[in-house]
Amino acid sequence: MKYYSTNKNTPEVSLKEAVIKGLASDKGLFMPERIEKFEPSFFENIQNLSFQEIAFEVAKKFFGEDVDETSLKKIVFDTLEFDCPVVKVTENIWSLELFHGPTLAFKDVGARFMARFLNYFLTGNDKQVHVLVATSGDTGSAVANGFLGVDGIHVHVLYPKGKVSKIQESQFTTLGQNITALEVDGNFDDCQLLVKAAFLDEELNKKLLLTSANSINVARFLPQAFYYFNAYARLKENSMLDGKELVVSVPSGNFGNLTAGLFAREMGLPVTQFLAANNENDVVYEYLKTGKYTPRPSVETIANAMDVGTPSNFDRILDLYNHSYKNISSVIKGFRYSDEQIRETIKNVFEKTGYLCDPHGACGYMALEEFLESNHVGVFLETAHPAKFTETVETVVGKGNVPLPQKLAEFMKGKKKVIAMSSDFNQFANYLMGLY
Ligand SMILES: *Cc1c(COP(=O)(O)O)cnc(C)c1O
Repeated sequence: MKYYSTNKNTPEVSLKEAVIKGLASDKGLFMPERIEKFEPSFFENIQNLSFQEIAFEVAKKFFGEDVDETSLKKIVFDTLEFDCPVVKVTENIWSLELFHGPTLAFKDVGARFMARFLNYFLTGNDKQVHVLVATSGDTGSAVANGFLGVDGIHVHVLYPKGKVSKIQESQFTTLGQNITALEVDGNFDDCQLLVKAAFLDEELNKKLLLTSANSINVARFLPQAFYYFNAYARLKENSMLDGKELVVSVPSGNFGNLTAGLFAREMGLPVTQFLAANNENDVVYEYLKTGKYTPRPSVETIANAMDVGTPSNFDRILDLYNHSYKNISSVIKGFRYSDEQIRETIKNVFEKTGYLCDPHGACGYMALEEFLESNHVGVFLETAHPAKFTETVETVVGKGNVPLPQKLAEFMKGKKKVIAMSSDFNQFANYLMGLY
């Protein structure tokens, strides 16, 4: 299948090129040339398939032409070594838990898939590939863990010294193997500038095969459709959908997760309504209300993975619906919440039901509470484990009520190993030139 750019100013490319390049040369985002629908019979029997089997069927619709079936199956099954279950929270609200992967956040799915995809496309290429990733915390851990132990690829994570939490830091500084952490004496922007400068440096690119693992990459973005199908299957298996309509609420920042859900719907998944739950970074909320899209700088909130002022996947949503405000605003309803509302919800849900939301999931939950009617079943995406935001969550539900999962505890025990780096490009370039 070919991939075109949302800016439509450059020729279509192959899947392999889209995955390796990440961004189109006209700076647009890649889109598959078509979205194939499932037969209705697929949905009638979907509850008989496991999550991995469902994901494989979805993957074939996008990648089946370009990746042989055996390899694709292995990539999908290896990616999903963990489950994405739906858990009942109230009578009509379910949590789609996306935090059972290695770094306890949904980005694990896309990062693990992309690592295996890159490896597949680069096999036979004897040159080592170097992935450069700048992180303010969570992306670095998902990418590092996604690529951990994958042959032929070395990941270099650049992060700002002293500006990420201990838990986050431990998730990419203690891994070893093919993961190197670079502790940069500067802020996140400095890290990002170093990475960008490296991609533009001619000498470096002559010597090394450099690539990014950016979240806009189709190999990170499309696999996020898998778990929407699984949510439907598991609800159906529990006879929760008999005579009811499915409403899905997505805590959104860059809108990758929500866009993948829209793709699932285009493939025939019976979702009646999507809810986009924002924190105070509400440019899409404004658009859905008014039809006017006005990106602006982000503001800090306690749901910080959604602190995005210019959501990168918005262009994909526009393209998917031919820029029709009417269509977009009927499929997606927008909601926004303040930090205070987020705190209150974490507390109320915990006290009423015993279920602990993280600050992002809490936004998704609130949107369902506002929107649901009696003929609806609601699912919100619980995008990260609450223990990743212990400081915030504990102040609301009390100390001792946020147990640290074994996986996070293991990271904390590991030995931190980093290379110190200044924010000066020459030092970074010399480091890269010294690699094999
Ligand atoms: C990245 C992230 C989000 C936002 O997802 P988008 O796909 O960028 O909209 C929400 N919650 C958590 C925990 C995240 O890490």
